[in-house]
Amino acid sequence: MLDKFYIDGSWVEPVSKASMPIMNPALNEQIGTVSLGNEEDVNRAVAAAKTAFESYSRTTKADRLEGLNRLLDETKKRLDDLAHAISTEMGAPITMARNSQAHCGIGHLKWFIKALESQEEREVLPNGDILTREPIGVCGLITPWNWPINQIALKVIPALATGSTCVLKPSEHTPLSAQIYAEIVHEAGYPAGVFNLVYGDGPTVGSALSRHPDIAMMSFTGSTRAGVQVTKDSADTVKRVTLELGGKSPNLVFADCDLETRVAESVAGCFYNTGQSCNAPTRMLVERSCYDKALEIAAAAGAAQRVGDPSEEGDHIGPLFDQIQYDRVQALIQAGIDEGARVLVGGLGKPEGLEKGWFVKPTIFADVSPDMRIARQEIFGPVLVMMPFDTEEEAVRLANDTEYGLAAYLQTGDEARAERVVPQLRAGGIHINGCDSGYGSPFGGYKQSGNGREGGIFGLEDFQELKVRPPFRA
Ligand code: NAD
Repeated sequence: MLDKFYIDGSWVEPVSKASMPIMNPALNEQIGTVSLGNEEDVNRAVAAAKTAFESYSRTTKADRLEGLNRLLDETKKRLDDLAHAISTEMGAPITMARNSQAHCGIGHLKWFIKALESQEEREVLPNGDILTREPIGVCGLITPWNWPINQIALKVIPALATGSTCVLKPSEHTPLSAQIYAEIVHEAGYPAGVFNLVYGDGPTVGSALSRHPDIAMMSFTGSTRAGVQVTKDSADTVKRVTLELGGKSPNLVFADCDLETRVAESVAGCFYNTGQSCNAPTRMLVERSCYDKALEIAAAAGAAQRVGDPSEEGDHIGPLFDQIQYDRVQALIQAGIDEGARVLVGGLGKPEGLEKGWFVKPTIFADVSPDMRIARQEIFGPVLVMMPFDTEEEAVRLANDTEYGLAAYLQTGDEARAERVVPQLRAGGIHINGCDSGYGSPFGGYKQSGNGREGGIFGLEDFQELKVRPPFRA
């Protein structure tokens, strides 16, 4: 039972009496209850953060580095608890929940520490003026359920690192891991009011944060729909709003790549986290000369994808996170069939023996055309669409033919081609031949995938104001 909010350094009774069940998606069973706050709860948390900002904003960089190092020690101690919570509440298999999902809390933190160490607090500009970086103020942080600790870490840590204070509203669907994270921050010894946690839904707590006049910045990760609403709600108080939103990332497969490995790994990459990653490579564009061979490899890789119980160790994938997600994915698979795409692997319904939870069949569609719904909409499930292209120019055009721009993937053995294609792709993160960017690099999107950058030095800058003044002259 999560029936308290963390405000001003302690766990307090909510004003609101509302609550909702916490569900285990693999079993489709209720495993707890979480309180949902209201505007008064938000006001209380913001007031605490505002008071704390007065002194926390004046801490030295050395103080804040010390705080982050304590946070690192505490996060390491609770890694297994975080993994267990994530696996139970959103269905990520325990091995992946520990090594990827929960580990993000450590990986991002280490690189934020390095970024803060290296950031100049005071700079002399080429014109002789003096630039300083200051914390932006009270931050409202809203996070989704699909990578719950990754998103919390990418927002809470830069707030703490820069001298800002914050109110976190995690996804109402994944409060167990958020609760542990709040306990970690508490154990790290942050002053009362620097970090606050209020559970609640988007339209009530999320909107109250976005509209609040004492909040200087909203950092939001979630759907484009909700991100637009946060932006509108923030407009009247002229807040800074940073958004990390959805994606429909293209994966360009050229005949000159190591086809067997690259296609098989791309299929696994699309299905990772049961397809519930904003930057998943969900649109595979394949050079026509190797299209049939690529379909064969993908079909074998797709059929080999294991789905199973998230509480078991292994590299299988788990269920989708709830019924809404399940129904949505089924509807889009149906749309793919109705619009004439060819089901290569998977299809409608649940995998055999996994009828209880929100499991789906990993699905691959061939012969998809760019105007089909499955080629345009973010499905957020283990569903891959494949289509052929004839020329490099057409591949780039198809890749960019989306309202999103979070990531793009490239498979080619030709470095000159990679150097030529990468600058033409309208996306914030490019993955080449299975190599991804590491912790500390900026994560974020072009177009309707968002406007901020999270992680490392760029993630710190999002939480800072710039102040400039001339050199002193009497
Ligand atoms: P969602 O937008 O439904 O919810 C995300 C968060 O926003 C939740 O905390 C929710 O309570 C809150 N929210 C909802 N409506 C709101 C409103 N009107 N005002 C304020 N807050 C509101 O998204 P979700 O289903 O939790 O997550 C899936 C989406 O998140 C996908 O579209 C995915 O691509 C995206 N995502 C993006 C990134 C990224 O970094 N770009 C990372 C993870 C997930």
